[in-house]
Amino acid sequence: MEFHQLISAIERHSPDILEENGDVYFGGKVALREPNGIALVGLNPGGIGLPSIRNNLEIFLKDSGKEYYSGFIDQCWHEPEYSKYETCGLCKLSLISNGIVHLGRHQKMILKIAEVCGFDLRKTVAINAIWTQTRTAYDLRLYLRDKGFPRMEEFFRSKFFPIFQELFRECRTRLIICLGNGVSESSFSFFRAALKVAVSDVVNISTDYRDGRYFMATINGLKTLFFGIPHPSLHTLSDLGMAQLKKCKAEICI
Ligand SMILES: [Zn+2]
Repeated sequence: MEFHQLISAIERHSPDILEENGDVYFGGKVALREPNGIALVGLNPGGIGLPSIRNNLEIFLKDSGKEYYSGFIDQCWHEPEYSKYETCGLCKLSLISNGIVHLGRHQKMILKIAEVCGFDLRKTVAINAIWTQTRTAYDLRLYLRDKGFPRMEEFFRSKFFPIFQELFRECRTRLIICLGNGVSESSFSFFRAALKVAVSDVVNISTDYRDGRYFMATINGLKTLFFGIPHPSLHTLSDLGMAQLKKCKAEICI
């Protein structure tokens, strides 16, 4: 899939979100064109002051630096720079010395997962479940209410899930790593509900959510595994969870 095809899918399915402020895709364009079968899916962009989703898509489309790219290691997540598409001094220095930005807790966790499981972040689809920007999940709830949009789970199912189905079909995505595994208000719970997977069909690796949980679903005729890790800005995936994620990746034949 080419990036412009992702834009077309958004324009077809959800034209009404294009003028909202937000950020859509933060993987490499190569990850869409030559997919490795893996996608990382967060909740929604944090911070404040991003341009509209329409502008965000146009800027990303024209940016030749986004071919072999990962928002987790190449993009400054510090505010106010993140929302202005700028890079802070700390990240500039780190880019010169280490070739990657100054990593926060969230980014370090994702980097470790990619290392342990053996995939290249710059060749991996990286996207949020919901693209409208709010500082917190609580703010997202208020924003949806004020805008007259449906509640979060239904907002995802109606506006975003059809685009994900197209994205996963075109990229033959088999493993979706959800960054947040809460029973509500997480990309993991949104996919589970949209795919009508019963809560009882979720495999909990243990009673500790930091070990992660997963479920299988068939999308576009392909068995697809959704693995939910605890939200990486707050928690670390345990060693047991990491080992299980690596096993799941091997079992889904990636
Ligand atoms: Zn920075």
